[in-house]
Amino acid sequence: MLKERLIDALGSDAVKTAPEDLAVYAFDAYTDGRLPTAVVLPASTRDVSAVVKVARACGEPIIARGAGTGLCGGAVPIIGGVVISFARMNRILSLDAHNYRAHVQPGLINLDLSNHVASDGLFYAPDPASQKISTIGGNIATNAGGPHCLSYGTTVNHVLALEVVDDRGEVFTTSCDDPGYDLTAALVGSEGTLGIVTSAWVRLMRLPEAVRVWVAAFGDIDAASAAVSAIIAGGIVPTALEMMDAVITQAVEAAFHAGYPTDAAAVLLIENAGFEDDMATCESAIAAIVKEHGALSWRAAHTAEERAALWAGRKGAAGATGRIAPNYYTQDLCVPRSKLPQALRAVEEAASAHRITVGNVFHAGDGNLHPLLMYDKRRRDQVGAVVETGNAILRSAIDLGGTISGEHGVGWEKREAMTRVYSTADLATMARVRDVFDPQRALNPEKIFPSGARCAEVTPP
Ligand SMILES: Cc1cc2nc3c(=O)[nH]c(=O)nc-3n(C[C@H](O)[C@H](O)[C@H](O)COP(=O)(O)OP(=O)(O)OC[C@H]3O[C@@H](n4cnc5c(N)ncnc54)[C@H](O)[C@@H]3O)c2cc1C
Repeated sequence: MLKERLIDALGSDAVKTAPEDLAVYAFDAYTDGRLPTAVVLPASTRDVSAVVKVARACGEPIIARGAGTGLCGGAVPIIGGVVISFARMNRILSLDAHNYRAHVQPGLINLDLSNHVASDGLFYAPDPASQKISTIGGNIATNAGGPHCLSYGTTVNHVLALEVVDDRGEVFTTSCDDPGYDLTAALVGSEGTLGIVTSAWVRLMRLPEAVRVWVAAFGDIDAASAAVSAIIAGGIVPTALEMMDAVITQAVEAAFHAGYPTDAAAVLLIENAGFEDDMATCESAIAAIVKEHGALSWRAAHTAEERAALWAGRKGAAGATGRIAPNYYTQDLCVPRSKLPQALRAVEEAASAHRITVGNVFHAGDGNLHPLLMYDKRRRDQVGAVVETGNAILRSAIDLGGTISGEHGVGWEKREAMTRVYSTADLATMARVRDVFDPQRALNPEKIFPSGARCAEVTPP
C-alpha cells in the first residue's frame, strides 16, 4: 500500500524498497543503524509534500536525509519510516552575487556552493570538515560548525530564509529579514524534527583580501592549550584555531604529506583572513604568544598550495585514522577554552581505562573537542568500550562546566544525555515547541528528546 502510493506520487524510479537498497540508508556516520520502510528520492518541493502526505496517511514516520555524514544517528530511521533522500534536489536555484545571497536546494553539497560562487569573489562560510560531501540541508538541520566558524559563526548565522514542508505536507516559508518570530533560527539545528527543509536562502561572504596560515608545534598538550586560551584572551580572534595531537598528525602525514611536524605532542593550525595591512601585526602578536607558551617551532605557509595542503590534512584527519583502526567513533563536546588541558586529560584517562586508542583533532578556539576513538566495529566488546568511553568523556565535559555537543547535534546518540544539561522543565518547554510543529511526532521520531520515566513530561501524550 505504502509502496504503491509512493510510486503513484513520484514514479517507480524515485522509490526504493528492495532490502539491498534500504540497507544503504540504515546508517549515518554513527556506530549503529536501523532499516527504513522505504526510501524516496524527490525532485521537487511538490514531491516532498506528496511523500509526507502519503507517509502520514499510511502511519509512517518521515526522516530527512542529506549525505548521511551525521555523527549522532540523526538520519537513522529508529522505528522504520520513509527516508527522504535529497540527492536529487542538489541545485543552486539562483545567485544574487550583488546582494551576497544564494537560493539553494537542500541536497546541494556544501563545498559545491563555495566553488560555484568563487568566480564572483564570494564564499559560503560554514565549513564542516565534511564539507566535500555533507549537504546544506544536513548542515542547516544540525546547525553545523567548522574550523572557520570561530570568527564567522555557525550555520544559523548564514541562513536567511527557508522553504519548509511541515508534518502535514503543507509548505511554509520563514524569513529572518522580516518581523515576527524568527522561525528560521528555530528550524536551524532542529534535526529534521520541526519540518523538512526544501530550499534555503543563504548568506554569502566576500573572499578575504589576504589569508595567512601558520603551524605551531608544542612539546606538550597543556602548553598548546594554554596558548589557545591566551590568543583569544589577548583579543585576537583568528579565522580558525585548530589543534591536533601526535596520534592525528602522524596519521595525517602518512596519508597526505600535508606538512605537519610528527614529533610534536600537539600542533596548532592557525589561520587569519582579512585585510593585507593587518596581517603582519596579527602574525607578530600570535607568534609572540605561542613562543611565550613554549612552542617548539612556528612556521608560516608561504604559498596557496602549502595552505591548501595543510587544510586538506586537517579536514581529512578522520579518514586518515583508517591507518590506525578500521573504524572511529567521534565524540563532540565543548568546554570553556581555559579548561582544555583538563578536558584533554579526561579524554586520555577515559580512553586508557577502556583500552581505546584516541586521537584528538578539534576546533580548539571554540573549546570544541572531537576525540576520535579508534575501534573495530566487528568486535562487540570494542563497540561497547567506545560507547562507554564516549559517555565518560561527556560526563567529564559537564563536570568542567561544558556541554554534550558543540556542533554535531543530539540525534539518537545523545538524547538520553540531554537530561544531564537540561532540567525536566527545560525539556518540556522544548517539547511544547516541537508539538506546535509536529504534534504526532511523525518527523524524525526518537531523536533529541530522552525516553524514560524521568522525562515523562516530555514524552508524547
Ligand atoms: C569526517 C567528518 C567530519 C565532520 N566535521 C564536522 C564539522 O567540522 N562540523 C560539523 O558541524 N559537523 C561535522 N561533521 C558532522 C556532519 O558532517 C554534519 O552534522 C553535517 O551537517 C551533516 O550533513 P549531512 O548532509 O551528512 O546530513 P545527514 O547526516 O544526512 O543528516 C543530519 C541531520 O539532518 C537532518 N536533515 C538532513 N536534511 C534535512 C532536510 N532537508 N530537512 C530537515 N532535516 C534534514 C537529518 O534528518 C539528520 O537529523 C563531520 C562528519 C564527518 C563524517
